Formats: sequence, C-alpha cells, structure tokens
Amino acid sequence: MQKNIFENTTFIKVAAVVISAVVVALALSSPFIIATVVANDGRPVVVVDAGHGGEDGGVTGARTGVKESHLNLQMAKLLAEYLKGGGYRVVMTRQNDTMHTFPSVRDNKKRADMFRRGEIINSVKPSAVISVHMNFYSASSRRGAQVFFDRRDDGGRQLAVIMQDALNRDFNMAGGGRKYSALSAEKYILFCSPYPSIIVECGFLSNPFDEANLIDPDYQARLAQTLYAGVNDFLKGNDNSAVE
Ligand SMILES: [Zn+2]
Repeated sequence: MQKNIFENTTFIKVAAVVISAVVVALALSSPFIIATVVANDGRPVVVVDAGHGGEDGGVTGARTGVKESHLNLQMAKLLAEYLKGGGYRVVMTRQNDTMHTFPSVRDNKKRADMFRRGEIINSVKPSAVISVHMNFYSASSRRGAQVFFDRRDDGGRQLAVIMQDALNRDFNMAGGGRKYSALSAEKYILFCSPYPSIIVECGFLSNPFDEANLIDPDYQARLAQTLYAGVNDFLKGNDNSAVE
C-alpha cells in the first residue's frame, strides 16, 4: 500500500515534468505562443517608433546639422523610460542607428525598413503606437510640436487630440508660439496596423529656437514627460483636452 502510493506519486511527478517540458518546448518553438505569453503579462504594450535611422537620416538641423534620426532615437529612449516607469511594456522599433531589412523587399531600403516596423507593431498588438519625428519647413519662422493621425483610426484621432493639447499647453503656447490642431496624414506607420497610432513631430529643425531646444537634454526630458502624460491620459481614459 505504502509502496503503491509511492509509485503513483513518482509517476505523477514524472508525468508533470514531462508535460512541463513539452509545454516549454512548444512555447519556445512557436512564435504564436511566445507572443501570447508576452502579451498576457498584464501590462499594456506601447510601441515607440524612432523615425528614420541608418542611411535614412531624415531632415537636418539648419544651424547645427544634427540629424533627425539621432534626435528621434534620443527622444524615443527617453519616452520609453517614462513609459516603463509608469508600468507599461515598451517595444521600440529600433534601438540603434540602423535601418531594418525585410526578406521580400530587397530593391527599396526605405520600404523594407517600414515593412519591418509594421511587422513589429502588428506582432505585439500594442495599446498605442507613438512615432517620434522632427519637422522641417521652408519658412524658418514656423515652430512648435504637431501631432498626426490616420483619419480611419478613431483611437489614433483621440490620442492625437489629447497629445496635441498637452503639447500646446506645455510647449507651443508656453513658449510664446501658436497652438496647433491634430491633423490627419497618409503615412504608412499610421495605417500599417489596426492599433491607435500617432506621429509626433516634436519641433522644426528649420527653426533656430526649436533646434536649440531639441538638442538640449533638459528640454528633451521635459518633452518626453509631456509625451508620456499624453499617452498615459489616453490609455487611462483621462481626456483633458480642451473643448474647442
Ligand atoms: Zn521624420
């Protein structure tokens, strides 16, 4: 009797170990299961997309020659830190000064890079996508931060309005400039997934005041804090945007 019980217990233990090993092996071999496990850790996922990178430097600072791709990555990393501190899981579409490749697109580096970004976004099913860019305009007097969304993306529109309002309050009007309205735009990063997505053009590298600010680490940190507050308000359902 004792012996039988012992044998049964051993059998159950062995069976449990075998089943666990099979589950782990399946999880490791199947991207679908891994994605599900990651998405189910309880924290909302936010994708932070640092625009451009590698050979695609974006626009260039009129006075300093700073590359947009460099500033985008600095801002994206700062925003990612604030989001992590706020309890979000962050996925960045790039963490280095590089362009992605994409297996089926070999003749167009920019398109391959964008397709890979789209693939990353769709694979993690984020609650929000924030694409960070710097602007440039022929008239050097234009300055300030602007937010764009896809007109078919209701969540993106809502996030854009909240974000634009936060940027108007903390930067555009606080800096003595004009306020902007969030605008729709036809951009791949905005329509490549069904998740709420915006582009934030943090300021104009064609404007001397914006350029000086955007390369200043203290200004970058304050800007990242406002971007974080905008995303957080959207995801927590706090709409503080002004009624026009
Ligand atoms: Zn850009």
